[in-house]
Amino acid sequence: MSDSPSAPAPGLLSLDEALSRLLAAGAQCVIQQADDVATLQALGRVLAEDVRSGLDVPPADNSSMDGYALRLADVPAAGVVLPVSQRIPAGVVGGALAAGTAARIFTGAQIPSGADAVVMQEQCAPVDPQSVRVDTVPAAGQWIRRRGEDIAAGATVLAHGTVLTPQAMGLAASVGRATVRVLRRPRVALFSTGDELAMPGEPLKPGGIYNSNRFTLTGLLQASGCDVKDLGIVPDRLEATRQALRVAAEGVDLILTSGGVSVGEEDHLKPAMRLEGRLDLWQVAMKPGKPLAFGAVRREDGSEALFVGMPGNPVSSFVTYLLTVAPLLRALQGRTARPPAAYALRADFDWPRPDRRREFLRVRLNGQGGLDLFPNQSSGVLTSTVWADGLVDVPALQPIARGDSVRFLPLNALLG
Ligand code: AMP
Ligand code: MG
Repeated sequence: MSDSPSAPAPGLLSLDEALSRLLAAGAQCVIQQADDVATLQALGRVLAEDVRSGLDVPPADNSSMDGYALRLADVPAAGVVLPVSQRIPAGVVGGALAAGTAARIFTGAQIPSGADAVVMQEQCAPVDPQSVRVDTVPAAGQWIRRRGEDIAAGATVLAHGTVLTPQAMGLAASVGRATVRVLRRPRVALFSTGDELAMPGEPLKPGGIYNSNRFTLTGLLQASGCDVKDLGIVPDRLEATRQALRVAAEGVDLILTSGGVSVGEEDHLKPAMRLEGRLDLWQVAMKPGKPLAFGAVRREDGSEALFVGMPGNPVSSFVTYLLTVAPLLRALQGRTARPPAAYALRADFDWPRPDRRREFLRVRLNGQGGLDLFPNQSSGVLTSTVWADGLVDVPALQPIARGDSVRFLPLNALLG
């Protein structure tokens, strides 16, 4: 992701620069503690070890078909009839294959020594219960899965820092691992500021709105694999805000807040942060988003918890989370290796009046290989975030015409 070289939004910090500052801070605070967890419970966790295989996988040559194992030399032409000398189901180890005979064999069963091909049962015809006619001339090694063809003993199958997907859980299990060593989850304290906020279930006072950010951000943090310390809504008073920051800082890696970081706002987050730690207020050249507060809060023991204060507008905080907080959380887990996927796709819409800031439009894959635009791109319209499959990353001042190729960021990849 790089900004246009003409710096179209003077005085603002580019998103790339904001991100590199966040990642640099995150790299100083990489989580070191690790736990052994059951492989079955490890979904979404980050490996704190290299998983090596102690064995070849598969552990022995085995059949990939139901059929007959035989020696090539015994089938010089189609139509040969061979006596069936043994029956080898999966999980049973047969004896050496007697020359001039075939072994009835099933998928996954170990190839008997002496056999050098399997003929699938569809190409054989039993002549009587004790013999079979082979209606094809087999090729050497056919339908045999070789010992170690997936994994050789000693190979690293999953590297430190890998997120355990369902596939990775299966791969760890395939080399016999019942437990894996994983990083402890990032711990994140979350609170919302704003005296207009009410909780769902409460009646809405005049001038009030429901605190949707608490729910969106809790879900995002859970999707990022975090343990959330939820402090709810903090009243708009200096002492209460200071107290919330002190409570939040204990035992967490990061404090995340929404609201109260806009320029010129009468709020208590900024003075409270300055008293309880340190704070930089950034104006980031991105839309939605822009105000972003980054700092740290002192803990009782003198150490610090990182702090990110996001804008209150629901779409702004959602997009800001995906583009800045999610990468910071990856950095805290030592996961800097691969940036989220981005795709060049066709815009099936016009965007004639681009902003001076780099913009992230809510779009949807339309089934014709292109992208549709949500009609209302306002930063308060949370509907757009549920409708969308992803964001289009629009460089500052660059209009989009129908048919243009644009940079599409799938929401699920941004969260990965
Ligand atoms: P702020 O960043 O505090 O200036 O808030 C910007 C806008 O976002 C205002 O319209 C707020 O009412 C709204 N807002 C702030 N916090 C939340 C929240 N937790 N949930 C939903 N909307 C919010
Ligand atoms: Mg506010």
